[in-house]
Amino acid sequence: MPARLPRATVVHDGPMRITVLAGGVGGARFLQGVRAVSDDVTAVVNTADDVTLHGLRVCPDLDSVMYTLGGGIDTGRGWGRADETWHVKDELAAYGAEPTWFGLGDRDVATHLVRTKMLDAGYPLSAVTEALCARWEPGVRLLPMSDERVETHVVVDGPEGRRALHFQEWWIRHRAALDPVEFVPVGAAEAKPAPGVLDAVAEADLVLIAPSNPVVSIGTILAVPGIRDALRATAAPVVGVSPIIGGAPVRGMAERCLPALGVEVSAAGVGGWYGARAADGLLDGWLVDTADREAAVPGVDVRAVPLYMTDPEATAAMVRAAAELGAQVRRA
Ligand code: GDP
Ligand code: CA
Repeated sequence: MPARLPRATVVHDGPMRITVLAGGVGGARFLQGVRAVSDDVTAVVNTADDVTLHGLRVCPDLDSVMYTLGGGIDTGRGWGRADETWHVKDELAAYGAEPTWFGLGDRDVATHLVRTKMLDAGYPLSAVTEALCARWEPGVRLLPMSDERVETHVVVDGPEGRRALHFQEWWIRHRAALDPVEFVPVGAAEAKPAPGVLDAVAEADLVLIAPSNPVVSIGTILAVPGIRDALRATAAPVVGVSPIIGGAPVRGMAERCLPALGVEVSAAGVGGWYGARAADGLLDGWLVDTADREAAVPGVDVRAVPLYMTDPEATAAMVRAAAELGAQVRRA
């Protein structure tokens, strides 16, 4: 386990229950900061990136969060296991077994074997995640957004006309190079929030939207019926953290997703798309980087602080700023 940072004082009486909506790598880094600020953290994690490969059920965002918080992540890559080897991947390629473009590391494969075996035995993904976390002890409660299968498909126009492909194929195989027409979270409309998700939002002292991909990480969580309503109904302040700094995602390819929704790639654009709780949206507060201090979102309190998640300490400072903003909007 990585050492915990000293507990910080936030503007709140007693222990603070924080619920976070999160994607993979950005969500995981953000949660390191949230965990440093509170002992009582629930992460509701996107599962619409999930994919079945070579018979194995892979949950990239849950695993990024679990490995990062559990000290098993490859910190250089930001995803997958530290000290990874790739013999299984090479052997599969030697058989010509498709797909060959997804990096399944040897250590990582063990996680997917345990998960797939438990799912096949009838356990829901939330129970499987809890079982995997018994090993990793992430220090936060990890909940998949849903136990039902939801998979983002990307509609693209190509030489052979319009077609849809799995998000992972678009993102990893094609490096998001094909112009997206639409992102469809297949199965979301019929999905239910996983056990504990709605309660975690309703009973939180603070709800945070991590600086994750607004479309394919946060947007897909919000597409599960009931979750958006829970955010709108909770007594807790809802504060979002911008994943866009100075008109660009810090890392990753979020700028390839937003235009398909007609959303400007800017802190104001994403904040406006989440919208004010006072006006059918989600946010009470919106944290932007100091480079975006001019950003304004109608009906939302915007505050500018440094938003680079360079290390858990810097990230904890962001979370404290989000908590203070939340306390302020609640008092107001
Ligand atoms: P993924 O599921 O692995 O793609 O990860 P997420 O969706 O959780 O997060 C990816 C997003 O994190 C990217 O689109 C970036 O916009 C954002 N991001 C990455 N690093 C930083 C950072 O240091 N600060 C901020 N504010 N956002 C970041
Ligand atoms: Ca993801």
